[in-house]
Amino acid sequence: MKFSELALRGEILKAVDEAGYQEPTPIQEQAIPAILTGGDVLGIAQTGTGKTAAFVLPMIERLASGQSKARMPRSLILSPTRELATQTAEYFETYGRYLKLSMALLIGGVGMDEQWKKLERGVDVLIATPGRLLDQFERGKVLLGGVSSLVIDEADRMLDMGFIPDVERIVTLISKRRQTLLFSATMPPEVRRLADSFLIDPVTLQASPPSTTGERIADHLTIVKPRQKFKVLKQLIDSQDVDKAIIFCNRKRDVSVLRRQLERAGHSARDIHGDLDQSQRTQSLDAFKDGDVNFLVATDVAARGIDIAMLPCVINYDVPTQAEDYVHRIGRTGRAGQEGRAFTLAFGDEGKFIDAIAKLTGKPIPMLDIVGGSESRSEDEGNAGESRQRPSSEAGDRDEKRPSGRRRRSAKKDGEGKAPSKHEPANDDRSMVSEGRSGLRPASRSKPTRSRQRETDNPVVGMGDHVPLFMQRPVPIQRAVAAQRKVGEA
Ligand code: AMP
Repeated sequence: MKFSELALRGEILKAVDEAGYQEPTPIQEQAIPAILTGGDVLGIAQTGTGKTAAFVLPMIERLASGQSKARMPRSLILSPTRELATQTAEYFETYGRYLKLSMALLIGGVGMDEQWKKLERGVDVLIATPGRLLDQFERGKVLLGGVSSLVIDEADRMLDMGFIPDVERIVTLISKRRQTLLFSATMPPEVRRLADSFLIDPVTLQASPPSTTGERIADHLTIVKPRQKFKVLKQLIDSQDVDKAIIFCNRKRDVSVLRRQLERAGHSARDIHGDLDQSQRTQSLDAFKDGDVNFLVATDVAARGIDIAMLPCVINYDVPTQAEDYVHRIGRTGRAGQEGRAFTLAFGDEGKFIDAIAKLTGKPIPMLDIVGGSESRSEDEGNAGESRQRPSSEAGDRDEKRPSGRRRRSAKKDGEGKAPSKHEPANDDRSMVSEGRSGLRPASRSKPTRSRQRETDNPVVGMGDHVPLFMQRPVPIQRAVAAQRKVGEA
């Protein structure tokens, strides 16, 4: 099929042509006509399938006729993260460049003055993260009564980040006579419930079977020995000729540590995670996109929605604890017809996460041996991602997590908090034992012994890992001898 068969006006076709798109992707072929008719659409599509253009192009077509009113956007795109929102705004500008449409972007971390001015004048499309939009709504800066078209993008990520209540609230502020488009890479029950309550008689489209990894991505799994992870990573980079990659860590604090380790090892790297402000994140992203650095070390949330053309490789320095994240992570590569490679480093006791990934994707990850994971003393003590057992008490350190109970407001504004998911490992009993090459099996679910407890990062109060300070002070010899004598007498 050709774009010209899709009932899009000449100005849009010209912009699409200039973007270098030869023909619509499968999701675009299906979604564009459905959206143009004004009906609701449920799109099950992961990033990399062209799903953004699938809803932006017909939105532009529909918005090209009609006029905006002051403070009342005509359409609203809700994105889970700032990065995704920014990227969607860029697409909107690219595809709408030959039409006079106005757009405002409400995301955390950037100045609002310019956006308020635009909103005041009236915009055709508002792109926002849910928390920031509600803030501005509550301050009376934006009215949602004029929204006739609503897009909820990456609904499964909204769920992961704890944004569903905000999304539900926003939907109640919008007229029922709207068109609603909901896109999600996966369909967990909560997203299904959302779709059932917000969409009316939707056309359901599926870009590829849900939760599968792209066919063009060759993924590999390497089991590493404790304290050998960074060494193995270096060897992987060398032996597999990896000259450009996003490297994912599970925790924010590991991201910066790993970036520094890579730099010390002579590689150029930047990092991106939720503790950086927007301008730092943009700088990191631009440096990576422009090819100034070879590696971008990232957390899931920060990297969400990032679209980097020609990204040849993704490395999971940590195994994602939610199988869906594996699909999202490696979906950064192998886009738009390109070949991609993905490498995952796992400890022998992380088999249950690997099993969950295989179950979700329907195929085991092929093993790849990298020389160097031996038991010899490591040069990498105290390195990023090296703690083998991460108790759930560390939840606050994960980018995507929030403390139990209500989400912190600041995290919400930033598009960076995440509710603890029920898919999350419930406790620190993550012991899995390796069964040779083919992998891993769950160990018995017995209570952790003291030695296993020591491997965790949990401080143990009493006589566990926590040694009181007074016991660490040197004891004067005479007192020690006297004490020994006393013990002997007793
Ligand atoms: P998305 O799935 O929206 O994240 O898009 C993934 C990538 O595909 C982006 O780099 C788009 O620019 C690109 N893309 C979108 N539609 C097409 C198309 N029809 N042909 C080629 N590339 C496309």
